[in-house]
Amino acid sequence: MTEKKLPFNKDQIEAIIKKYPTPFHIYDEAAIVKNVQKFIKAFSWNEGFKEYYAVKACPNPSILKLLREQGCGTDCSSLPELVLSDMAGITGENIMFSSNETPLPEYVKAKELGAIINIDDITHVDFIHKNIGLPELVSFRYNPGPERTGNAIIGNPVEAKYGLTKEQLFTGYKMLAERGVKRFGLHTMVASNELNPEFFVETARSLFQLARDIHNKLGIKLEFVNMSGGFGIPYKPEQTALDIDYISGKIKALYDEMIVPAGLHPLKLFTECGRLITGPYGYLVTTAIHEKHIYKDYIGLDACMANLMRPALYGAYHHITVMGKENEPCDHKYDVVGSLCENNDKFAIDRMLPKIDIGDRIVIHDTGAHGYSMGFNYNAKLRSAELLLHADGSVDMIRRAETIDDYLATLKF
Ligand SMILES: *Cc1c(COP(=O)(O)O)cnc(C)c1O
Repeated sequence: MTEKKLPFNKDQIEAIIKKYPTPFHIYDEAAIVKNVQKFIKAFSWNEGFKEYYAVKACPNPSILKLLREQGCGTDCSSLPELVLSDMAGITGENIMFSSNETPLPEYVKAKELGAIINIDDITHVDFIHKNIGLPELVSFRYNPGPERTGNAIIGNPVEAKYGLTKEQLFTGYKMLAERGVKRFGLHTMVASNELNPEFFVETARSLFQLARDIHNKLGIKLEFVNMSGGFGIPYKPEQTALDIDYISGKIKALYDEMIVPAGLHPLKLFTECGRLITGPYGYLVTTAIHEKHIYKDYIGLDACMANLMRPALYGAYHHITVMGKENEPCDHKYDVVGSLCENNDKFAIDRMLPKIDIGDRIVIHDTGAHGYSMGFNYNAKLRSAELLLHADGSVDMIRRAETIDDYLATLKF
């Protein structure tokens, strides 16, 4: 069970709304910092441990800077994400560039920033080597294929476009060494929003086994293994958060059993979590502007799927709080919807909530990752602002809402 708490009460959010009209995403700085500190501490047994925050989860340099101050790097997969990292003061090997079908200019920028390049396909070894030269430190993304079953969101690895096969890995590291690469890493990502802790233990086991196989076959000692992201969060109150200390403890036991005796210590462990780090600490704050009663009962919000795609895209559950009515009975069944001309523009379907009145503030939970960032401009809908709530209750706007001028700015008319 997870208690769905808010970092503000009705009076506090009303005071914020006076200055910043709804809708907006608001991020809880203190909670993000506390959470990332706890995460990093759980893995402190591994000397080189580093969390490379997945920029796509919340691509705002104010958030990236906050995470940098806690010791995080970034995981980037596009040129603008590299630029955002640079803006936040994250450069060099504090960037993991995990891209696929990568356009050359993106490799150029990654190399210029000194990022760790994580290669997604064996043909990219010579693509980089011939065009811009390989950096000193390179890693490969491994696709375990039939050896692992993926989870619901990311799918079966055999059907996934990412990574190299196991055979290609051995050829690939040899190619890297022949082309002058001196330092090597290994990466895999086989889960998304996974809440089963054993999944991550198994990922570590398969990476440690490969580190041993690569050493045995090629004499190459890996510098790091990157188990990537995909750590789930309890979107639903009846779900339970992952026990990171448990996962880390199991991985340490595997490290002591598989890596140390093989003479492969020190081997750095990296993660690329997005959702786990910021997901639970962002909220989409909206206002109920209409109610409609036809075959079902609808509450219309001033936000729409342009602000949060997950419910429409994956049927994802996002918890909803009606501000000031936290203790009232949930005796009304609503579809809570946005204004987009798409019938899947629904934040909740058949959700039991307290009676909602026009003007009520409706807060949608767990929008701190893959929330704002997935937003789009379909139907010419404009994306909202992003706010940062500080520990002392003060608020900074860290991105303003889009305007019509922003929307028209790319037109040549
Ligand atoms: C999306 C992504 C992540 C982050 O995923 P989360 O589910 O937010 O942890 C990490 N690494 C890569 C390569 C990704 O594509």
